[in-house]
Amino acid sequence: MDLEKELLLGDKRAIARAITYAENYPDKAINLIKKLYKKSGNAFVVGITGAPGVGKSTLTDKMVKELVSKGNKVGILAIDPTSPFTGGAILGDRIRMQDLSQNPNVYIRSMGTRGHLGGLSKATNMAVKILDISGMDYIFIETVGVGQSEIEIVKIADTIIMVLAPGMGDDIQAIKAGIMEIGDIFVINKSDREGADKAVIELRMMLELSEKRKWVPPIIKVIAQENKGITELLNAVFKHKTYIKDSGELYKRRLENLKTELIDIIISKLTRDILDKINKENLQKNLDKIINKELDLYSFTEEIFNEYFLTNKEVYYDK
Ligand code: GDP
Repeated sequence: MDLEKELLLGDKRAIARAITYAENYPDKAINLIKKLYKKSGNAFVVGITGAPGVGKSTLTDKMVKELVSKGNKVGILAIDPTSPFTGGAILGDRIRMQDLSQNPNVYIRSMGTRGHLGGLSKATNMAVKILDISGMDYIFIETVGVGQSEIEIVKIADTIIMVLAPGMGDDIQAIKAGIMEIGDIFVINKSDREGADKAVIELRMMLELSEKRKWVPPIIKVIAQENKGITELLNAVFKHKTYIKDSGELYKRRLENLKTELIDIIISKLTRDILDKINKENLQKNLDKIINKELDLYSFTEEIFNEYFLTNKEVYYDK
């Protein structure tokens, strides 16, 4: 059978192959997605973010187990900061999800961040579409940390869960710096530890200070390790899902993400196309001129653009 058919049937090996295309041979992945695009749009995407060690993997494991027990199919994308020493994604903590990966209704994939140079969100975007096409009901994207690139990735999600743990004051400082707005649901994990109630109060105060939204993000106390609070957390996810669907916010959010993705695709396509078309000899000559101050970089860039758009005139003015 071919890849398209197998993917539509939710075959795990087909999913794996398609995501490998997304990472290494984007053109192949694009062709596949183009053909099957109409089959996407059914999965609900949940983003999970927070500092390393707060318990995201444990939490994901427990949430997914419960979802699967209710008959759902779930895909998990674990975005790992790739270690420069091992060259591979840090898989250690994913071992926690190993028994889950044996489940026929769960597909888990680690995606490393090294060597992608901004291409990561593109690969992740494609991976989400692939999982969606393969018939997943839920897709979890788990990212580490609260840096800009993680935020960009997690923005693909329909519901964003921010995970914190008591006694991690730095963490609260980090979310103060503008990241607060993206959380739809907050989790205080490790609530078996001292300071959980204090963390809830602090967080609630901070949320009240931040920009008012129609959706008031709930704060759920969880002990992921002991499977406590998982049902409450999932109920919060379902509630948010209903809210964004009914209020039209889901449509708005997906439209916004689509716009961002479209701009990204245009930029990378245009960059590649222009660079391909630059005459290498001419480029070298002009670089020499720039170094010798016979020409400046800005005028040269303008020249390139003028020429590019002139020679591609029909594409832009035909309609
Ligand atoms: P991640 O790096 O955010 O994915 O965190 P992990 O899920 O790998 O968890 C980090 C550590 O915290 C592990 O040793 C877990 O066993 C532990 N952990 C997870 N949940 C809880 C919890 O609710 N309470 C306590 N005390 N430890 C937890």
